[in-house]
Amino acid sequence: MKPILLVHGGAGDISDDRVPGKLNGIKKSLRDGVQLLVNGGSSLDAVEEAVRSMELDDSFNCGYGSVLNINGIVEMDASIMEGKNLNAGCVTLLQNMAHPICVARKVMEKTNHNFIGGEGALKFAHSQNFEVLTQGALVTENAKIALEEFKERQNKGLDTLFSSTELNKKQKRDLGETVGAVAIDGNGNIAVATSTGGITGKLSGRIGDTPILGCGTYADNKIGGVSTTGHGETIMRFNLAQRILQNINHKHVSAQQATEDVCKEMTQRLIGTGGAITIDKEGNIGIYFTSKRMAWGYIKDNQLVYGINKGETFTENL
Ligand code: ASP
Repeated sequence: MKPILLVHGGAGDISDDRVPGKLNGIKKSLRDGVQLLVNGGSSLDAVEEAVRSMELDDSFNCGYGSVLNINGIVEMDASIMEGKNLNAGCVTLLQNMAHPICVARKVMEKTNHNFIGGEGALKFAHSQNFEVLTQGALVTENAKIALEEFKERQNKGLDTLFSSTELNKKQKRDLGETVGAVAIDGNGNIAVATSTGGITGKLSGRIGDTPILGCGTYADNKIGGVSTTGHGETIMRFNLAQRILQNINHKHVSAQQATEDVCKEMTQRLIGTGGAITIDKEGNIGIYFTSKRMAWGYIKDNQLVYGINKGETFTENL
């Protein structure tokens, strides 16, 4: 099996000025992650490293640069899963951690649980020697501005954040920009990692799709792996990741077809937009989004392929 690393930098109505930062971040993430995949490295190490790279980059809504909840606080969600034994680690409502994805991996490897949230997750991370940052250390100027804009819209009665059937255009602009990675290694092992700050102006304690297995993340060596992004309340109700894999498994369609069909069906039925990246057990790739843009990229056969607009693909030699 030829190793492949595939990443996304979030689905949304991404403004033109944010495109270069996202594409650079995607390329950096791929280069960082692929080093752990070549020479016999594991897909699990590669997806963790690829996501870790984007958690350091404020072009993305995760780690440093995460969006703010209604109280101006960063509360992050992340999940990681490996497809051989279906082991997984998930964290939610995590504050003051630079790398939620690394904490999720420790949950998978060092506890008897799959999912830890809030204060307990922070204490667990501390016990694993992760540095607890000071309150506000992950907050960027952009995140503060986005929250101010959100509050202005809310005051004008334009906010429909928690009514997914009435998503207005303004709101859709703020969705997305979560990050995720899917990889298959030389042994055919598939791994998936996804990390996010959620959505701007969310209620304190709101949990999205990202840390939920089958919604934001799923990996199964017998079928494939998927990482998703977009409107969490929509993706969660649709089980986006799991549905894509079940289409591949039962309808015998390609990874691309399944990703496209299921994303389209979700937005048709539930209005909220989203996107997904998929690798099937044979190493075929699927990439699709119903939002205006989604940054994505992959490395395969020493070629780096990436894009952000519909129907647009760039290729570079490594
Ligand atoms: N799905 C994430 C959430 O709703 C947001 C995103 O993909 O950017 O928490």
